[in-house]
Amino acid sequence: MAIKHAFQAEVSQLLHLIIHSLYSHPEIFLRELVSNASDALDKLKHLTLTQEEYKGVPFTPRIDISFDTKDRKTLTVSDTGIGMNDEELAANLGTIARSGTREFLSAMAADAKGGANLIGQFGVGFYSSFMVADRVEVVSRRLGEQKAWRWTSDGKGEFEISEAEREGCGTTVTLHLNEAGKEYADQWRSEEIIRKYSNHIAFPIHLHYDEKGEHGGRVEKTEQVNAALALWKRPAKDLKDEDYKEFYKTLTHDDEDPLLWMHVAMEGAIEYTTLFFIPSRAPFDLFRYDYRPGVKLYAKRVFITDDEKDLLPVYLRFVHGVIDSEDLPLNVSREILQQNRVLANIRSASMRKILQELGKLQKDRQKYQAFWKEFGRVLKEGLLQDFEHRDELLELVQWKSTAVEGWTTLAEYKSRMQKDQKAIYYLTGGQEASLRTSPLLAAWKRRGIEVLVMDDEIDEIVTPGIGTYLETPLKAVNRSATADDLATDEDKAKEKDSAGVVEKIKKALGDAVKDVRASVRLADAPSCIVLDDRDPSVQMQQILKSLGTKDMPEVKPILEVNPGHPIVVKLAGLADEAAVADASRLLLEQALLLEGAPLADPAGFVARLNRVLEKAL
Ligand code: ADP
Repeated sequence: MAIKHAFQAEVSQLLHLIIHSLYSHPEIFLRELVSNASDALDKLKHLTLTQEEYKGVPFTPRIDISFDTKDRKTLTVSDTGIGMNDEELAANLGTIARSGTREFLSAMAADAKGGANLIGQFGVGFYSSFMVADRVEVVSRRLGEQKAWRWTSDGKGEFEISEAEREGCGTTVTLHLNEAGKEYADQWRSEEIIRKYSNHIAFPIHLHYDEKGEHGGRVEKTEQVNAALALWKRPAKDLKDEDYKEFYKTLTHDDEDPLLWMHVAMEGAIEYTTLFFIPSRAPFDLFRYDYRPGVKLYAKRVFITDDEKDLLPVYLRFVHGVIDSEDLPLNVSREILQQNRVLANIRSASMRKILQELGKLQKDRQKYQAFWKEFGRVLKEGLLQDFEHRDELLELVQWKSTAVEGWTTLAEYKSRMQKDQKAIYYLTGGQEASLRTSPLLAAWKRRGIEVLVMDDEIDEIVTPGIGTYLETPLKAVNRSATADDLATDEDKAKEKDSAGVVEKIKKALGDAVKDVRASVRLADAPSCIVLDDRDPSVQMQQILKSLGTKDMPEVKPILEVNPGHPIVVKLAGLADEAAVADASRLLLEQALLLEGAPLADPAGFVARLNRVLEKAL
């Protein structure tokens, strides 16, 4: 009996996008099916080698592709892999498990045009079959089970599961081709695609077709179309760029070429091969906790896992690829993996290699900027997580700056420093435009000293921990002590002279501030907010609050006033206490506004402003 199931809503949305041909290359359906078959063979191989109960199961891996050349109605991809039972069919081909993927799909479906652009990056896997077929049938038998099951669907909201027959475990996918799909039921066309997309698949792929025989009838032919050698095991000199690119696409479902790849074959105390890719574009789930790790682990070409997030550090989670070692046991469990010395060794060599290659990429400015735009933010996390590679990471990070267009590195900043400049200065806490116009920068502008403009939220967390770069300290412009670096003797004298007005404002503000100080850093602005060394910035406080951080001590601002500014000068001579109170408050409130802090008392602010305006007009 056939049981009807409805697709999960997001699967229906995905199918809708696919069927309405938002995808630019329908031919990739074959790559996706072959890649699934190869994964299923990988999993079976692993089980037959490691699980007692399956050790007797003969492993004869193969992928068979056939079609009827005459009517061009069907195309079939069959594997002798691990197979699926009825529950797995329903779960794997009817739902999308990862919440990140689900949310992404909902967002994509809501924006049909954006969807068209994004779907290529997303990779649609099995469901891509519906680009070329109006009905898809999957017959599968799970390893160790007697029953086989048939899954069928026209991709329009429902699928059906019923009992079926199948010899041995594995999966057969039959596509009932639509108009657009007919062209693939052709020997030359399909052979071309399979060669292009699947040459590096580690299992033999057999193509079945029929040809006109000598006596008019049709003769069946079978041909193995790939070398069935894991691509990463082939010497780099034998591989062309195209080979790497196609392998990358099979591995990631990404439709774009990778930005960079690195292929290392290590022979020595520990024998291993790694092949890593850096994508051209960030995946949608890069900043989600349930992101999909990009590296697959193999031992002696036997697949071990593709779901281990620890193969590379979290800040390199954008790297895709393969690690394969001769020195890993086949039956490693997760726990063992994490303590395995061989793997720890490979991991650390891989990190070094990836950072090195990124260093080389910096020489190609355009490419590096493309990389940085997509992954810079993730790489910066490394400064918090990986002290061992701190020096390498400090060469790789970039920020915007008041001195140059675009991005700049710390090395470049250093090369532009003035002779007596004491530190690398930076400003965090806001959008680029508001940082660039911040009154805090006036003193640096006046002296022509460059300031790094750090407009990424993570900068606030990362940068204070850097400390020094090649012995030069990094200093935040919005910290109260930093301005001392720039103060001349004349400035210091001015600060002293303004002690009276500072005291007056301080008294007026009471415990609304931590302190009031005279500042020579300001030019046109009458006041600004600065921080003590250890205090979190205004933006940071807001982030912490939005994260629901409890027991956050209230951090009171330090107000700096510009003793040369007419408002402050007038305040010094003002006797009316109410007017002093209003003006002092407004000096504080305007400085907070510029910092992007919400006003604590908007009604009071407006009342003060109106009193002052009334007098002025
Ligand atoms: P992905 O391969 O990215 O996970 P797919 O939509 O292509 O996404 O496949 C969904 C799941 O269905 C796979 O993860 C796998 O568990 C299962 N699957 C697909 N094809 C096969 C197959 N030929 N043999 C066994 N399992 C399969």
